[in-house]
Amino acid sequence: MSLCLYGKHSMQNDLLLNYTPTEMQAFVEASGQPRYRTKQLLEWLYRSKVVSYDEMTNLPKAWREELARKADVNPFPSFSVQESSDSTRKYLFTLRDGQAIESVCIPMKEHFTLCLSTQVGCALECAFCLTGKQGFTRNLQAGEIIGQILAVQRDTAASDTKISNIVLMGMGEPLLNYDQTVKAIRMMLAEEGLHVSNRKITLSTAGIVPGMHKLGQEGFIINLAVSLNAPTDDLRSQLMPINKTYPLQELLQACREYPLPERRRITFEYILLDRINDTPEHASTVADILQGIRCKINLIPLNPTSETPYRPSSEATVLAFQEILLQRGYSTFLRASKGADISAACGQLSGKYRSEID
Ligand code: SAH
Repeated sequence: MSLCLYGKHSMQNDLLLNYTPTEMQAFVEASGQPRYRTKQLLEWLYRSKVVSYDEMTNLPKAWREELARKADVNPFPSFSVQESSDSTRKYLFTLRDGQAIESVCIPMKEHFTLCLSTQVGCALECAFCLTGKQGFTRNLQAGEIIGQILAVQRDTAASDTKISNIVLMGMGEPLLNYDQTVKAIRMMLAEEGLHVSNRKITLSTAGIVPGMHKLGQEGFIINLAVSLNAPTDDLRSQLMPINKTYPLQELLQACREYPLPERRRITFEYILLDRINDTPEHASTVADILQGIRCKINLIPLNPTSETPYRPSSEATVLAFQEILLQRGYSTFLRASKGADISAACGQLSGKYRSEID
């Protein structure tokens, strides 16, 4: 595990990474600087990925000092990295108020997929998820969301492999931190920002129906993943209490209405829990309820945590479940879980290294 520390911090200042290009322009103008300074600032942040004003060498020193009193460059005073046996890297970022979040960088065949957090903790209390056990602390600011990408890019810059997919699937429910999440997505897409393609970004939700509708109207269409996990309201409400507020029928209607372009599909994630949601009947009911939705299904083996009572389904059960969905015409994948040995897999993020609290 490696550790990296930067200078003093507090949450009193704003973050430069919280500003859209338009807001950055206003910020630059308010301090009496010419317009081209906006471009310089954005380039330092998003191209050079600097973490301090000292590095912004083409800006006047006096102005840098003035900026430093108003806005911070680096959202993370410190971070540490743990690498698992399958090369998954888990980052623990300390925020300026001392809270902590995790991001996971997952090696795929030719690129990295980066899994980002959107909240400190989570309010949804899904029965199988460790983040849910710690409760909700606060929403992340847009700059704390986008900052996770920049920090990991900086850390992996020497590697030939590049981050190409971004998934909002870490700690928290992105659609319950709607405004800051959407702002961060805009900076991922923006030409002056990270300039990532909308097809490379996936937001995963437990099913916040109003947020799903709103997201479809933002003027950009990113991929949507929905954590389904059960095919009936009774069972889903037991596993995911949010289902009592937004039951399956409403959730699936919101999926149907999400304006994905023709060739793209909604992803349904389904964690298989031994003897809870993994029978052939469950599989057929999943097939029934998803009828008519252009989708693919990712079956995820449960990552057990000591704080939840569930066990993963056996391999034979998983394969039988998959077979039923394939027979019914659904593209169904078994999603290999990576990073479990360092608690970096889905549902294991806690903002604390297990070795430190076990
Ligand atoms: N709140 C969002 C995003 C965070 S959870 C959502 O619910 O989609 C990201 C994914 O991890 C979800 O699909 C969730 O069902 C899954 N997950 C949570 N706990 C898990 C566990 N213990 N094992 C495997 N997957 C888990």
